[in-house]
Amino acid sequence: MSRILVVEDESAIAELISINLRHAGFEVNIAATAEQAQAAVDGVLPDLIILDWMLPGQSGLALAKRWRGDARTREMPVIMLTARAEEADKIAGLDAGADDYLTKPFSTNELMARIRAVLRRKAPEALDSVVEVGPLKIDPATRRVTRGTDHEAREVKLGATEFRLLHFFMTHPERVHSRPQLLDRVWGDHVFIEERTVDVHVKRLREALSPVQCAQMIETVRGAGYRLTSQVNVTPAALPA
Ligand code: CA
Repeated sequence: MSRILVVEDESAIAELISINLRHAGFEVNIAATAEQAQAAVDGVLPDLIILDWMLPGQSGLALAKRWRGDARTREMPVIMLTARAEEADKIAGLDAGADDYLTKPFSTNELMARIRAVLRRKAPEALDSVVEVGPLKIDPATRRVTRGTDHEAREVKLGATEFRLLHFFMTHPERVHSRPQLLDRVWGDHVFIEERTVDVHVKRLREALSPVQCAQMIETVRGAGYRLTSQVNVTPAALPA
């Protein structure tokens, strides 16, 4: 389930947003101050942040700037909310690293559409779309992984963690992901889970992909991490008996 952090000190607005997000299937956490928001992000990296500009104490703008300056949070999608409508403020928000910008009052339909658009661009693993890389196809909605055409598809059976791991790899193919990055994005915890946990689940994933001759798509990049690539010679899968 995708995680969204709502940073908003007006509880009525925070609740309204949360209800809509939960209804759409997201897991939602609320922070009322910059300090609470930072503590939440330090724990679990959300898939997206909805960030109010005007907060008591440190502003949302300063928070967005800080996150953009930190390697761990640099890619984290941020949508800023504000009551200000002036052009200069919008530019300041986007300069601070917000991916999108919404002026209060806004319709929840518009907010949901903006969230989906930002996720599609920056965190496609948070959406339920079918993804194909090379001969592999993954469908988060039905939790099915198959190799081959619809006509003669062979199903790959995966445990829950291996499924999430493969989904993350397939939504970010050809890129190398370090173990801490994978813990953050797949497990949601970079502090309390040991890095070798990643190795254990990559091994299981390769074993599960082996019967359909796709294990070699998961590459170990020495000293860096793991990568899923379609740039390997994937041998034709044997037809099901
Ligand atoms: Ca506010």
